[in-house]
Amino acid sequence: IISLKDVGKSFRSSDGTPRSVLENVDFELREGEIVALLGQSGSGKSTLLRILAGLTPADAGDVRYRGQPLYGPARGISMVFQSFALFPWLTVQQNVELGLEARGIPPAEREAKAEAAIDLIGLSGFEGALPRELSGGMRQRVGIARALVTDPEVLLMDEAFSALDVLTGERLRDDMLELWDSGKMPTKGMLIVSHNIEEAVMMADRVLVFANNPGRVRAELAIDLRRPRDVDSTEVRALID
Ligand code: ATP
Ligand code: MG
Repeated sequence: IISLKDVGKSFRSSDGTPRSVLENVDFELREGEIVALLGQSGSGKSTLLRILAGLTPADAGDVRYRGQPLYGPARGISMVFQSFALFPWLTVQQNVELGLEARGIPPAEREAKAEAAIDLIGLSGFEGALPRELSGGMRQRVGIARALVTDPEVLLMDEAFSALDVLTGERLRDDMLELWDSGKMPTKGMLIVSHNIEEAVMMADRVLVFANNPGRVRAELAIDLRRPRDVDSTEVRALID
């Protein structure tokens, strides 16, 4: 669904010198798979997701979605953020509808689509609530509903569960996997970033390990297990510097 060829990205540091964050990244997200991106802090994982979400451009290489060059946010690609990124003064329903507004869906369609996404993620009855009235887990459900409301083919999740306490994070992760396995989500591919290696190994069909400074794909491991998975993360752990 997504392909990256020789992708590079650098940022200017405060003294103006460019610093390479991603170099020669080659990667393909295929239909039906969950891929986890692992690597040390600062290795460019979030930067890669932001490129795919159209939030920042790559400055070298080729990024394609369904064979077309990706220039900005694509309707078929949504992202879930670690910090939820909700607007505190908007209700659950309004926050979710923003996902549609941003992509130019007419108002008449928004309400029903938002309600369906809220229902899918288990938040029915909370449409009129404000974020501060919700627990952390419920807030992230709003973030996920906002991402799913556009029926994305590709879902990007950047540390989506790590701001939550362990049990809440695990419950939400399991609910997402159940949705994924049941086919109730339109999503055909997921790219997830996690600092929790066990979580990544248990969710993913394939793990990509980034080398540090600059980030590039150091190793790729297929995880050939069906859920529930008997997770052995030693091999993956050994690859992270
Ligand atoms: P973490 O695991 O801590 O989230 P990461 O792998 O997601 O790390 P990135 O957030 O992609 O890493 O950042 C990679 C590098 O790029 C870091 O050194 C960061 O300081 C730098 N960087 C990211 N965004 C910008 C920006 N907008 N301007 C300048 N430097 C940036
Ligand atoms: Mg990050």
